[in-house]
Amino acid sequence: MSTAWVTAFVGLGSNLDRPASQVRDALRELGGLPNTRLLRRSPLYRSAPLGPPGQPDYINAVAMLETRLTPDALLDLLQAIERRHGRMRGERWGPRTLDLDLLLVADRRIDSERLQVPHPEISRRPFVFVPLHDIAPELTLPGIGPLSELVRDASVGELWRLPESADG
Ligand code: ATP
Ligand code: MG
Ligand code: MG
Repeated sequence: MSTAWVTAFVGLGSNLDRPASQVRDALRELGGLPNTRLLRRSPLYRSAPLGPPGQPDYINAVAMLETRLTPDALLDLLQAIERRHGRMRGERWGPRTLDLDLLLVADRRIDSERLQVPHPEISRRPFVFVPLHDIAPELTLPGIGPLSELVRDASVGELWRLPESADG
């Protein structure tokens, strides 16, 4: 474990087995991780799936954490949460009960075998950058630029914000 607290962002997604509940439960579990605090959570969004056709829509959200864990240790714990939610690794980008992607860790850039940070798809995925912007509008993405410009210039397409009370 490193000693300094850093800000990290996690993208959540689910399109199986009551997706909104999967995402809400996972947000709570992120807040319970060791040496980690949940600082902010975005609203939930519904998005059209990318990847193989015929999948249900996704529910997405983004969480802002403060953590003393190393990025590798945090990824281990994110994957443990995915497993507890019954995540199976089937076809690439296929349907899943829970996907937890480490989007950003402070302004660090990591390119190891198991971990790329910033997550390389952020700027191509409105279901990631829109909720990220909701909770951190001033953010600059390392190697990409100001998040506000990305949101301003993007065509957002099939993304719908859920009312706070939505369940399922
Ligand atoms: P995508 O990464 O395009 O969103 P995915 O989330 O469906 O696809 P997974 O099956 O969840 O992909 O993960 C595949 C591998 O990606 C993991 O085993 C993990 O080691 C690696 N990985 C690399 N960078 C990251 C990151 N920033 N966050 C989470 N996993 C990552
Ligand atoms: Mg993913
Ligand atoms: Mg993933």
